[in-house]
Amino acid sequence: MSVQHVLVLNCGSSSLKFAVMNAENGEELLTGLAERLLNDDATIKYKIDGSKHQNALPYNADHKVAIDTLVALINERALAENIIAVGHRVVHGGEHFTGSQVITNEVLAAIEQTAQLAPLHNPANLTGIEAAQAAFPALPQVAVFDTAFHQTMPKHAYLYALPYSLYKEHGVRRYGFHGTSHNFVSAEAAKALALPTDEHRIITAHLGNGCSVCAIKNGVSVDTSMGLTPLEGVVMGTRSGDIDPGLFDFLTAQLGYSAEDVSTMLNKQSGLLGISELSNDCRTIEEAYLDGHEQATLALDIFCYRLAKQIAAYLVPLSGLDALVFTGGIGENSDIIRAKVLAHLSFLGWQVDAQKNTDARFGNAGIITTDSSPITALVIPTNEEWMICQDAARLAQEV
Ligand code: AMP
Repeated sequence: MSVQHVLVLNCGSSSLKFAVMNAENGEELLTGLAERLLNDDATIKYKIDGSKHQNALPYNADHKVAIDTLVALINERALAENIIAVGHRVVHGGEHFTGSQVITNEVLAAIEQTAQLAPLHNPANLTGIEAAQAAFPALPQVAVFDTAFHQTMPKHAYLYALPYSLYKEHGVRRYGFHGTSHNFVSAEAAKALALPTDEHRIITAHLGNGCSVCAIKNGVSVDTSMGLTPLEGVVMGTRSGDIDPGLFDFLTAQLGYSAEDVSTMLNKQSGLLGISELSNDCRTIEEAYLDGHEQATLALDIFCYRLAKQIAAYLVPLSGLDALVFTGGIGENSDIIRAKVLAHLSFLGWQVDAQKNTDARFGNAGIITTDSSPITALVIPTNEEWMICQDAARLAQEV
């Protein structure tokens, strides 16, 4: 069989992350990012054959322009002939999808229907799919949903205590996100620790710009912290996570906020940024904390306390714990946050190896508890692109 490559596309609200990967071994032939799309300074950066490149994109370039630029690059570098499928990250699959899907007209219609639950993301994902279909009409296109991994949650975990009709008629429920990442790192942890596939209890903390925690029992998601939207749960870079819903009344009735103002505040001006009044970037917060900056210290303390509470809460659905996994830009790099979270949870009896925790910085993954610790904590770099690549290659064989 000839070499099989997959083009992986991840359209964010104003970005396009892409990769051409070898479906056998995960080798990345081309990786890159187009960002600040729909702005006057959109750029595309990519790495190929070990060298890095960066070009400006035309004024106001959108996802279609970015994908057309990428396709021209793929053709120019003669990468197209081995590509057997295009894999798309799709943020919201609602209740329609419990796994990845070859994209048909019905699948497209369902993604469109779900767009009202993810108005920033699903339309961008659809643009990506349409542009890729136009560029590669003969290739199978596969959708990999952030929500699919969490479709195994039991009803008592995914329903809110709201009028039932909101769920029945409008699909208001917890969906959860980052599913591809939680799935990948929990499977890697089970493999690394040789845990039986049908008997393990893992908590995964995906800590990046968005943060979520997931409880995984015997390989399936049984609860997760993000909800109907990616705003619920733990504290994030600019998102508040859980708040008292009564805040909405207070802000609108007493302080004259519009619904849009409230949404902007909760999504873009809260979290680490809101508390520190400094930055949403964890590196900046940590530097300021080390310099004794009071609000940066408070932001880190709140972030870690809330994260530890969320992890502890998942001992309920799991009735115990074998492993806790840290992943995402913060989870993989911040020994400070990992140490603080593990210290909050020291009553669980794990023995943290401080040196291993420090050494796990900068992509040096691995176990950060001692050999005799009753529960293992690990750092595992996430690789959503590789999951998307594998699913796309597998489903392409079935077309
Ligand atoms: P992601 O969304 O997974 O790319 O993660 C982005 C987050 O990771 C940002 O808050 C970064 O500040 C954080 N991050 C990246 N590198 C480091 C680092 N060396 N130390 C602490 N946080 C980091």
